[in-house]
Amino acid sequence: MSSLMLKSSKHLGLPLCTSPRVQRNQLQRMVARAKQSFFAAFSLGSPRVPISPVTMSKLYWSVTVPQMTYGLELLNLSRSDINHLEDAHVTMAKKVQGLSMTSPNTCALAPLGWRSITATVMVRSLTMLWQILLLPMNSPYKQIVVSRMLHHHHHQHIMLRSGPVWNMYKHLEELTLVQDVIHSITNGTYMSLYQWKLLVKSRVSQIERNKWVASCGLFRSLILYRQVIVNIIMWPWWQYALIAPHDTVKCKVMARIIASNRVLNRVDRNDGNIRNKSSLCDLCSQSISDNVSHVLFVCNQLSATRSDMWHQVKLSCPDSLIDSMVRLTPNERTVFVLSGFNCKFITDWAPIYHSLCTFVYKLSMLANSCSK
Ligand SMILES: [Zn+2]
Repeated sequence: MSSLMLKSSKHLGLPLCTSPRVQRNQLQRMVARAKQSFFAAFSLGSPRVPISPVTMSKLYWSVTVPQMTYGLELLNLSRSDINHLEDAHVTMAKKVQGLSMTSPNTCALAPLGWRSITATVMVRSLTMLWQILLLPMNSPYKQIVVSRMLHHHHHQHIMLRSGPVWNMYKHLEELTLVQDVIHSITNGTYMSLYQWKLLVKSRVSQIERNKWVASCGLFRSLILYRQVIVNIIMWPWWQYALIAPHDTVKCKVMARIIASNRVLNRVDRNDGNIRNKSSLCDLCSQSISDNVSHVLFVCNQLSATRSDMWHQVKLSCPDSLIDSMVRLTPNERTVFVLSGFNCKFITDWAPIYHSLCTFVYKLSMLANSCSK
């Protein structure tokens, strides 16, 4: 009898499985298919002019993510399933930005403004819940969902702790929206789907941001990153790369600098073991505590090139901007430049972005070639 039992089937393209192992295999196939479309799009660029991270981002969320997450809001995903999806998601985010695969996973999504796969599935699951709740009361789908939702609310300690409605209930608990939904069900008054999506997305964004800030705090190498990237939104330098494809490589070098908190490729043996211990610069042998601002604005071995490059920056910048940058400390100036002037991207400032990314790129390349 057991040999006749069906272990997996597809309904409307959705894999339905009775075995976690079979479901895992199905998920792996979905991820592999999604990666194919990702790398097909990624190969459109060339090494000198790679495809812009903003364009890749649009293609990724329009094609790859729907392939990778189709129907996941209806499945019971294990922790290992979720980790598999998140790993693939982070790997593709690093590829898009040209980050090292050894850089901390927590720094990969925020500069692109991407949310996690878990958050994406959560939003989709709760959107589906509201779409069902907005159906007329004689709909069997609504009757089942209302009945299960009330059951979970009043009898959480007994059975039926699985299935799509249970997953929705858990998401509501995490977003502290259970009372809102129970109130709507018992009173028969529902906000519009648009308002509900706004509410869910704002709660999900808050949770994502809290998790991101907490996880960044675990890495000493992300001190500069947290000063430069303050929100989960598209980094201004990626927006600049969209209108100046020939500078995309320079922007990727800047992204690698903030993700690793260093310009020089040298590995500091003290890193991560001894707090606040300064190390020696490979170029001038000065004791330094901050590799990035030292190379960009202090190291005397690079002063000739720095002076030439800074002259180019002066030619493209208004005097007031130059004056305000000069008044900053080297560390503050580094954060100011790498963050895209602590403000949103402004298209009219393209010549300023060009001169500054060239400044950072040339100095970092020179520093690395001199240290070898
Ligand atoms: Zn130095």
